[in-house]
Amino acid sequence: MSVLNGKVVIITGASSGIGETTARLLASQGAHTVIGARRLERLEALASDIRADGGSVVVQQLDVTDLEQMQAIIEVAMSRFGRVDAIVNNAGVMPLSPLEALKIEEWNRMIDVNIRGVLHGIAAGLPVMKEQGFGHVINLASIGAYEVTPTAAVYCATKYAVKAITDGLRQEVAGQGIRVTLVSPGVTESELAESISDTEAREFMKEYRRIALPASSIARAIAYAIEQPTNVDVNEMVIRPVV
Ligand code: NDP
Repeated sequence: MSVLNGKVVIITGASSGIGETTARLLASQGAHTVIGARRLERLEALASDIRADGGSVVVQQLDVTDLEQMQAIIEVAMSRFGRVDAIVNNAGVMPLSPLEALKIEEWNRMIDVNIRGVLHGIAAGLPVMKEQGFGHVINLASIGAYEVTPTAAVYCATKYAVKAITDGLRQEVAGQGIRVTLVSPGVTESELAESISDTEAREFMKEYRRIALPASSIARAIAYAIEQPTNVDVNEMVIRPVV
């Protein structure tokens, strides 16, 4: 039997890409998955697939920029399963553009989803994990958390922030049985680049994404972190395509 069997895992941004693939993988190994995103119909379709394969899944519509909605998904997990073993703060957006294009709404959206969304996951999940005396916060950053590239200044800034928040959280919860993992993918197959409205950035990403990893490469890294013995904290994983 898999170590993941019976673990309760909340996954944000589970309607596509890495989140969706992670939900499929964890559910196939016996985890109770609680999946959130804004596109309910996509979540329902995913849940049907998971259930058809014998997996356990609960769907909850979720906008991570709204703290109350994040608290609601934690409450759903608690009322259904009585515990939260892990939250995967995966939801993210990446509308790349040069700063001088002044796409201020897009900057704000990245800040709201990529930074505030992760903070909301922590704000909603941490009290429950402290009460339980166990839990695991897994935050999705990016290779953009380690180096800045043109058109990606704001996106990278949000991912640097996710890395800083994750490092800070790990230090602060030391001794409370809570694990904190940062997962930083390189280019990976997903819908992430579809939100790019800047023509040049879009063309560049099209070319760059030719070497993209399948989302399962990242899902396996997330599963690896969760399935370690509870005294093992996988701090950080960077997963890139071979070039
Ligand atoms: P996708 O675009 O395929 O998935 C992003 C997910 O985030 C979707 O399910 C989307 O669902 C959800 N989302 C967006 N906004 C919100 C919101 N306000 N509230 C709740 N959910 C939201 O991209 P990926 O799977 O690639 O992205 C997953 C994570 O991986 C992101 O944090 C991304 O930054 C990171 N990453 C990805 C890389 C890649 O190359 N793919 C590389 C490095 C990092 P919905 O629209 O239904 O709400």
